[in-house]
Amino acid sequence: MRPQIQDNPLAAPVTTLWGVGAERAMQLARLDIHTIEDLLLHRPRRYEDRRHFRTIAELTRDEAATTRGTIVALGLRRFRGGNKSVFEIILDDGSARLHCRWWNLPFMEKYFAVGDEIFVYGKLNETKPRIIDHPETEVIEGGEESFIHINRIAPVYPLTEGLPQRWLRGLIWRTLEKFERHIVEPWPQGRDARPARPSEESDAPAGRPYQFLPTRANAIHMTHFPEELTDVEIARRRLALDEFVALQREMQLRRKNFESKSRALPCGGDNRLMKPFLARLGFKLTNAQMKVLREIRADMNSEHPMRRLLQGDVGSGKTVVAGCAALMALESGFNVALMAPTEILAEQHFHNFSRWFEPLGIKVQLRTGSSKETALQAKKNEAPRTVKPSTFNLQPSTLFIGTHALLTSGFDLPRLGLVIIDEQHRFGVTQREQLVRKGRYPHLLVMTATPIPRTLGLTLYGDLDVSVIDQLPGGRGKIKTFLRTTEKLPEVWKFILQKLAAGRQAYVVYPRVEDSGVGGLKAVKKEFENLKKLLAPFRAGLLHGRLKSREKDEVMTGFRANQIQALVATTLVEVGLDVPNATIMLVENAERFGLAQLHQLRGRIGRGVHESHCILISDAKIGEAGQRLKVLEETTDGFRIAEADLKLRGPGELLGQRQSGLPEFRFGNLAEDLDLIQLARELAAQIE
Ligand code: ADP
Ligand code: MG
Repeated sequence: MRPQIQDNPLAAPVTTLWGVGAERAMQLARLDIHTIEDLLLHRPRRYEDRRHFRTIAELTRDEAATTRGTIVALGLRRFRGGNKSVFEIILDDGSARLHCRWWNLPFMEKYFAVGDEIFVYGKLNETKPRIIDHPETEVIEGGEESFIHINRIAPVYPLTEGLPQRWLRGLIWRTLEKFERHIVEPWPQGRDARPARPSEESDAPAGRPYQFLPTRANAIHMTHFPEELTDVEIARRRLALDEFVALQREMQLRRKNFESKSRALPCGGDNRLMKPFLARLGFKLTNAQMKVLREIRADMNSEHPMRRLLQGDVGSGKTVVAGCAALMALESGFNVALMAPTEILAEQHFHNFSRWFEPLGIKVQLRTGSSKETALQAKKNEAPRTVKPSTFNLQPSTLFIGTHALLTSGFDLPRLGLVIIDEQHRFGVTQREQLVRKGRYPHLLVMTATPIPRTLGLTLYGDLDVSVIDQLPGGRGKIKTFLRTTEKLPEVWKFILQKLAAGRQAYVVYPRVEDSGVGGLKAVKKEFENLKKLLAPFRAGLLHGRLKSREKDEVMTGFRANQIQALVATTLVEVGLDVPNATIMLVENAERFGLAQLHQLRGRIGRGVHESHCILISDAKIGEAGQRLKVLEETTDGFRIAEADLKLRGPGELLGQRQSGLPEFRFGNLAEDLDLIQLARELAAQIE
């Protein structure tokens, strides 16, 4: 157990520290430092090895480095009527002279004096004379505390206006000295912590304790004042592990708590609807789909309500699986709710499920922001609330389909047996819980097409069991992916026109709705006007988020019916859409999209028997953007793509801005720390 707040000295506010008054406290608060513990966990942004530094003569243009020297001259020059200025100091260390300049920051003048000795960190902008513009500097002062700042590896912290680096470093040093002994182990350390060493092949210097993780107190000490730079990573891993253990414990407690309170509704079904449904489907389920359905049926028959995440790459056929799960609950006499992230997707599901389920005597109701009436209608016709599972003459049950409008309070979902959430990464954990609370512990199936790297999966969905559809249905045309520059657009359009002439359809995606004039990004509204002419006699339709629901609906219906051949759209088409005759995906300004997002877009094609083509237009062929796009040319494996995206752009980008369930870590790194997250999961399970 963690000590209670009142007897935990680390929980005291920073104002109880010597030297921290109201103004400093305000500055610290801007860095999110409120308590002593926050201060001790303030992570340095980099380190300077002040035991060895370069002479001024050794500085280069390529690599930032630390040097030190004495100020031999300084001056402020104003020009353009005093609006512009440059402040300059000249340093000498015996090897050479160095000019440091600050443009338009005249107040820098007050921090330096001739004769001061200072540290300078940066790389040369010019070599003759040697100049660094806007370097990081720190004046070297003598005195009894100077040992904190020089002749050691010094931490360099994130700062805020008015807060000096040196002051903060001193404060952290003194606070550590006083409070280090109060830092407790947050969970019992045992032999199981051992595998968490950096890596088997690490070339650890002999005698360093790599086999064992440092204590938390040591790790915090090493983070601020490492003896060697290699200590920093060892400490980071220990503190990251603590963060992961805390999170996993929380999730496991939530799950345990939930299981002790809840008794599952019997929703295993008896196949009487499933049989005719599968017989009329028109295709056979893949082995992967059947395996997942067995897992789902076992859950829905068990003692505790199902909490399951269904992962499957785009096009792997999750919708049918959701349909079968829904039928199990419906056969058992319960209603089912299916929540989708956009109206378009909700409508597509409504369309499919009506076609599938109505012949079976099941009602399908739609509730989106713009269609509330339909669902209210359903409420009026609601069957009596008594639950008589597994008896035969059951009321015909209802499948409710909708967007987050399903969550509206006051909207009742009677006799709710199963909740299905499509494209879960678009919703946060809170919304998941909100929907589940509409019933008495209904079963929950969440589906995601963003293949989630293991690290993220375990952090976001640690409280869910996972099923994976790891096989695509057969009989699909291949998808070829090309990366092209804008110069090649005329040829690309010629190619697309040929495909339209052959009877196929196309998606054309732009990054913006409206032209804002910045960044040279193409906007869908403007391009649509050009494309209408370019593509004639074929018809183009416009789709973006600012259209009214009715307008979106019309365009989508037209596209599905092949009255519209080219859908000119924003990323609104990214999730879920299923139009098998569409075989072209053209994305302009492709460098503006995340990899996982482009993979989703590409997932809209390759759904029918015809060969498909994904064409990514971008002039950013080099650098990080170009490298990213190449990954797409090379693979269609969603997991590989998601991992690359996580490494290149971070979890926020991968999951979309709206993801609200992602915890923030000071030390944990979701792209790298899979071993720690797995270890944390095991440790959390061992802690009572
Ligand atoms: P996603 O997993 O991306 O949500 P969908 O459920 O939209 O994929 O399925 C993609 C397409 O594949 C749909 O047209 C669906 O009817 C079809 N499909 C699903 N399962 C099979 C199967 N076993 N065999 C053939 N086609 C299938
Ligand atoms: Mg889908």
